[in-house]
Parts: sequence; structure tokens; C-alpha cells
Amino acid sequence: MVVVGAGFSGLAAALALARAGAQVRVLEARDRVGGRVLTGWLDDGTQLDLGAQWIGPTQDRMYALVSAYGVDTFPSAAYGAGYVRRPGGRSTEPPPGAEELFAALDSLGAAVDPAEPWRAAGAPRWDRMCLTDWLERTAVDPESARYAGRLLAGGLLAASPDEISVLQTVFYLRAGGGSRSLLGMAGGAQQDRLVGGPGALAERMAAALPEGSVTCSAPVRAIEQDRAGVLVHTDRERVAGDAVVVALPPALAGRIRYTPALPALRDGLTQRAPMGSAFKVHAVYPEPFWRADGLSGVGTAVVGPVTETVDNGTPDSERGVLTAFCYGDEARELRGMSAAARRDALLDALAAVVGRRARRPDELIEYDWSADPYTRGCFCGALTPGSWTRYGPFLRRPVGRIHWAGTETATRWAGYLEGAVRAGERAAAEVTGAGHRANQPSQR
Ligand SMILES: Cc1cc2nc3c(=O)[nH]c(=O)nc-3n(C[C@H](O)[C@H](O)[C@H](O)COP(=O)(O)OP(=O)(O)OC[C@H]3O[C@@H](n4cnc5c(N)ncnc54)[C@H](O)[C@@H]3O)c2cc1C
Repeated sequence: MVVVGAGFSGLAAALALARAGAQVRVLEARDRVGGRVLTGWLDDGTQLDLGAQWIGPTQDRMYALVSAYGVDTFPSAAYGAGYVRRPGGRSTEPPPGAEELFAALDSLGAAVDPAEPWRAAGAPRWDRMCLTDWLERTAVDPESARYAGRLLAGGLLAASPDEISVLQTVFYLRAGGGSRSLLGMAGGAQQDRLVGGPGALAERMAAALPEGSVTCSAPVRAIEQDRAGVLVHTDRERVAGDAVVVALPPALAGRIRYTPALPALRDGLTQRAPMGSAFKVHAVYPEPFWRADGLSGVGTAVVGPVTETVDNGTPDSERGVLTAFCYGDEARELRGMSAAARRDALLDALAAVVGRRARRPDELIEYDWSADPYTRGCFCGALTPGSWTRYGPFLRRPVGRIHWAGTETATRWAGYLEGAVRAGERAAAEVTGAGHRANQPSQR
């Protein structure tokens, strides 16, 4: 069996296939495993999670892997009061009516089966309506609509609310257990971090595969299939197998050349799931000065380029790390600026919520996932308005010997590490259940 991509989904698929007795080859484009996770280290050893970082309750497969591979976790820093940056300044409360908007969307989601969101009674209407329209019609005031749009479209999908449909929003809410679960720190998706970052876990997962299973620096360019099996082409080799699990976001899976060509609707799906647009920037200070002022550093914003911040310090480091997240239009605007102008805009936004000392970080560290050829955006891909009802059924449907994994195909915790693992394990079960002959992968 062949697996394309050594992110969490590809690794989980490969481990499950290996457990089922298959011989597996994993072909990974980058020179490392892990995909959308990357750990940076400051010179004093402080850990910075440049990609994914959190896990939280009900992400059972991730906690099981953390435990099985002996990776320690620690809780996200939480020391003082949170804030909401609103037009008049810093507040402790979100705009009135915002919680009701989250609750209303959660209750729409209750009617959606995340395995088949296109079948919900309201699906046609929700799919053609963008989140902005729904919020403007439903909200009691424009500020709460703007706040909810920034948190739901931005904080969850790194998009602007006019880029995603109501159906995409409620699917995602449902898959992650609702807005409280998705947006929460303790008790929610942002509860725990991994010592060494999720990359440390990915490396252990890869090491648990039989030696030689994973080949890095091997971007897959083409996949051929016929009645005998599949032939997966990299620049250096052709790997044969009975079946292939493509563990990539749809937008990247669409860049592989398939012979025979993919069915038109599957190909169409890959053209309608763009990656989000986010900036995750770490401002590093000698110490977390905001804590002395009784501030947690954790907050959200209705105005400005930064939608969310967190105190991203680690228990073993004295350095203060304030991490800023910018999404959708704000991220695109920042991307268009010079590095100096972007730095000013980001530091002004941080100063507005934790005070003037924020303007003088030791370092400001960003990793641009949108410019990375093997991710091309973050956090994940999301279907454009109108696409769930037209193309959704082709998200997971295998094409002959090609099976689709990747977090975007998950029915639980889609878009998250947990979704990636579940999708990989589901694809592996599909492959073994499909009765493809257990040929050894071999080089041709
Ligand atoms: C900045 C950021 C913050 C995030 N925060 C969180 C968080 O806190 N918690 C959370 O749960 N999730 C978070 N996420 C989302 C999380 O990272 C993803 O859901 C998860 O990593 C997806 O795993 P995957 O295996 O499906 O895809 P990927 O990790 O994208 O894996 C795909 C792999 O395929 C490789 N590849 C691409 N093209 C080819 C090719 N042609 N041939 C071979 N290999 C190829 C890639 O290099 C990559 O290794 C975040 C993501 C980002 C970017």
C-alpha cells in the first residue's frame, strides 16, 4: 500500500495499515514528517509552535497517541483576565448578542450530520448563503455580527465570513462539538499543548513504522491506476501498490496528475476547497509582562488586523510569548504590506490590548503557511459557498484504488489534528475492507 503525505493523517493511515499486516510506503514531499506542524526553538530553548499546537477534550485519538508514544502535555497558559478589543477600547465582554449568534448556529448544526451535511433539510439554503448574510440578517447589531464572523470564519477556518457558507460553518461547528468546544481554552480545543510540539509526536509515529517505510523529499507528481494496482510517481522513483491513500488537503490532491483522469465531480471538488489565509505571529518578550497587570494575554478583537491573541509561554521558560492570529481579509492585507509595515500594524494591535511594552519585542517570528508549496494556506481547506451540496458527496468517495484522507475529509474534528488522525484511520479501514490484494509496494 502507498500513502501520499506524512502529516498526521498519512502517518495514522500508515500505522493502521501496518497494524493490519500491509506493507506500506509513505511518500512525503517535505524533508520532514508532520505536515502542518512545525516546532521552532528560541536560543534559550523556548518552544514555539509555528503550526498546529493545541489538543482538547473529546480529541480522543490524539490523547491516545500522545499517551502511546510517551509525549507529555501541558495546559495552555491562563493567568488573568481575558479581553475583547472593541471599537471603544478594551472590554471584558463580547458585544451584546454575540453569544446568541453562536448558540443559534450551534442549533442549526444540530440538524446536520457531519458525514453528509448536504442531506440536511436546510442544506440548499444554507449552502448558497454566506455567513456574512446570515449574521447581518440575524444579529441585533452590526458589532456582534462582525465579532461572530471574525471568530467563526476567521478563528476556525482562517477565512472572511463572506467566503464561507452557513452550511460550511455549521458542518464545522458540529464536527468539533459546537462553538464552546471549538473556541474554548480550558475545556475546549485550545486546552493542552505538547512538549516538543506536535512535531515530536509525528516523529515518533513515523519511527514506529517499519524501517524504510517513510521517504521524505519525495513529492508525488502522478498516480496511475489500472486493474492490477497503482503506480505512484515521484521525481526519483515509481512505487507500485494495490491501493493508495492520498492524505493531502483537496486543493493539493488536485495538483497531482491522475491516469485515468479523476471523475469530473471529484476533480471539481478539489477546485472548490481553497485553503484558509492566516498569519500566526509570535511576539517574544523577556517576560510575560501582561501577567503582572492581571491580564491573561488571551483575547479576541472586533477591530484591527489581529483577531485573537494567546499567551503562548511554556512552563519551563521565563520568556513571554504573545501569539497573534490574523485571518482572511486582514491576513491578506498584512501579506500585501512591507515587512516593516506589517510589523508596525501587528505591534500596534498588541499594544492596544496589553499596553505599550508590546511594541518592543525581542523577536517577532512568523511562518507563512500560505507561501509553503506543500500547504498553500491554513489552517485547512473549506468548501466554497454552493459546493457542499454539489460536490460534498465526492469528498471521501474512493476513486477505484485511490482513497482520500486528510483532515478535510473527517466527520469529527475536521480541520484539526484529531480529524487528520481519524480520517487517516478511516481511509486505512476502507483500504483493508475493500479487499485490495496485499501486494508489497515495490519500485518499478
Ligand atoms: C498555523 C496553524 C495552526 C493550527 N493550529 C491547530 C491546532 O492548534 N490544533 C489542531 O488540532 N489543528 C491545528 N491546525 C490544523 C492542523 O495542523 C491540521 O488539521 C493537520 O495538521 C492536518 O493534517 P493532515 O495530515 O490532514 O494534512 P497535512 O499536515 O497538510 O499533511 C499533508 C502532508 O502531505 C505532504 N504533501 C503535500 N503535497 C504532497 C505531494 N504532492 N506528495 C507528497 N507529499 C505531499 C505535506 O508536506 C504534508 O506533510 C493548525 C494549522 C496551522 C497551519
